Amino acid sequence: MTSVALVGCATAPTPPGVSVERKSTRTLVVQSAHIRATDGGVRVWGSVQQSLGYGSTRQSHLDVDVIGPDGQLLRHKAIVYHPFPVARSPHPHRSSRGSQYGTDLPEVPPPGSVIRVSHHPVSVAECGTHQQEIK
Ligand SMILES: [Zn+2]
Repeated sequence: MTSVALVGCATAPTPPGVSVERKSTRTLVVQSAHIRATDGGVRVWGSVQQSLGYGSTRQSHLDVDVIGPDGQLLRHKAIVYHPFPVARSPHPHRSSRGSQYGTDLPEVPPPGSVIRVSHHPVSVAECGTHQQEIK
């Protein structure tokens, strides 16, 4: 049996068994979330789009949570998106281009983990004191 798999220099794969989840709120939609294995870790990136009432949301950031296969929180990271705030669409019937986010996690979560990107409508500084429940 011959293995032709190249170790270490394959095209950037998705970490095995790791899925990604998006969690929007009424004011901000997490439009896309992607993950890719990097050198020793995982890169998470995507885009967000404003929704109804976004203009009244003064503070806003994204939480990147890594939830392990047995449900424990392995990592929590509060990140910002750019531009902040999300640019408004010049045309009411056309959606804006939204904002982008991206972050690098320093380790690869074990298979069965979920990387969850969720909107958190408080300031980054407040994030630690408003820790969200992991269900
Ligand atoms: Zn947060």
